[in-house]
Amino acid sequence: MRTSEEYKQDLYRLKPNVYLRGKKVGRESPELSGGINIISKTFDLVDEPYFKDLLTAKSHISGKRINRFTHLHQSADDLMKKQEMTRKICRLVGGCIQRCMGCDAINGLSIATFAADMEHGTDYHKRFMEYVKEFQERDLVAACAQTDVKGDRSKRPHQQDDPDMYVRVVEKRSDGIVVRGAKNCITMAAVADEIIVVPTRAMMPEDKDYCVAFAVPADADGVKIVARTSRLRAPERLNMPQGELGDDENMVIFDDVFVPWDRVFICGENRHATLAAYLFALFHRHSYTGCKPATTDVIMGFGALIAEYNGVYGKHNIREKLVELAATAELVYAAGIASAVHGTKTPAGTFMPNEVYANVGRRHAGLNFYKELEILAELAGGLPAALPFAEDFLNSEIGPLIKKYIKRRSDVPAEDVYRCLYGISNILCSSLGGVQAVAGVHGGGSPVMEDIAIWRTYDFEKKKDIAKFLVGITEEIPKD
Ligand SMILES: Cc1cc2nc3c(=O)[nH]c(=O)nc-3n(C[C@H](O)[C@H](O)[C@H](O)COP(=O)(O)OP(=O)(O)OC[C@H]3O[C@@H](n4cnc5c(N)ncnc54)[C@H](O)[C@@H]3O)c2cc1C
Repeated sequence: MRTSEEYKQDLYRLKPNVYLRGKKVGRESPELSGGINIISKTFDLVDEPYFKDLLTAKSHISGKRINRFTHLHQSADDLMKKQEMTRKICRLVGGCIQRCMGCDAINGLSIATFAADMEHGTDYHKRFMEYVKEFQERDLVAACAQTDVKGDRSKRPHQQDDPDMYVRVVEKRSDGIVVRGAKNCITMAAVADEIIVVPTRAMMPEDKDYCVAFAVPADADGVKIVARTSRLRAPERLNMPQGELGDDENMVIFDDVFVPWDRVFICGENRHATLAAYLFALFHRHSYTGCKPATTDVIMGFGALIAEYNGVYGKHNIREKLVELAATAELVYAAGIASAVHGTKTPAGTFMPNEVYANVGRRHAGLNFYKELEILAELAGGLPAALPFAEDFLNSEIGPLIKKYIKRRSDVPAEDVYRCLYGISNILCSSLGGVQAVAGVHGGGSPVMEDIAIWRTYDFEKKKDIAKFLVGITEEIPKD
């Protein structure tokens, strides 16, 4: 396994192809350090006793100890460990750990490539497993680029006026393919070693050229990453762990990128392209049942702490709000556990989460995220939006007066109150807080996508049978 220092050195060696505020920059740009610091935790904590068993797994390919973010889940226990790891490590960074996308992509593709080979006699799975072997051995970090720019949303890929609105194959050669197109909102692509591409939606036979899944190094020729970074604010002199943390969301442009065949995992099979799209989303939604409860844990922590500092912790109105947060976090987490326990061992060997439980869990989290922020805003009062800057709080002239007037309970130091409000301000009023709020709704697919997945997989016919039985339309006892 790599150390975080080795991960960083590998990143710094990549060719500069990140476009940021009008400049082409290398990965050593200070703007990108926030995301790098978050991902570094996934390397730094592998030997920490509390995390060791969660953050590492035994590879079923090599038998070696590997980082769990590179593992193909083999059992319900693996899925539950991934979920628990995600919740516990996300808490330390106050939100998204940013390394799950690559893990979810390799898991989804392991099943889709196997199914494609079974039906078409192709050799995608063999190639793919060679890739996974390398992925594990080099302890790689991958972004998953699924969300195409999509152009006119009412049209399918092959119907678009501009044919490049979905990533497509523009040339097939004896040694590989050339792809063109762009993907939006790709988390941490600017700080990843690799970019794994999967289709974004169900594909028709007419969409053949768009039925493509592959992996490229993040600095492959023709890959252009347009980054938008965001940070949590944290003044140096207050020495808060939040100060190190940040995020990059990226438009990833594939400007005629060559991909050798050994890195092409689906090429032209529309049903298996659809399956790859669906399975990445499924594994990702299962990951959300770990990271979303962690985000709620953070919101809950700050909400409870400010109520305590205000002297109102335990009052009826506060209890009600904290219980609401706890109920959301634990229901989402429970859905993830149920999804693992009721998951399936697929013919590829990868253990797949139960679709209904993963989707209802992710859906519940998405529908509640702004409500959680609303609860925190209510619990905190208005000061997170109007908090004096730290330079003033620490200033020898005005600071003592700010401390006097920010104080609440006499036994709580003014600085603790200030720090708590600062953390809440980061969640509610910072650039990264805003990004995480939108991610809470759309990450892993907009709420309607979970509705579609639930509609497709949930057995409403069986529910009709219950109704028929109860009113005597049928005497047959309803069974699952
Ligand atoms: C912070 C963040 C991080 C993300 N990280 C990743 C990532 O790492 N990798 C990745 O691949 N993606 C990522 N996403 C993208 C995410 O999956 C998409 O935002 C989501 O799938 C919605 O796609 P869109 O943004 O293109 O919205 P749109 O598709 O433009 O949707 C906008 C609205 O239009 C509606 N709509 C769209 N099409 C139709 C239609 N045909 N009929 C009716 N209504 C329609 C939608 O329901 C929605 O309400 C991330 C998103 C965010 C916000």
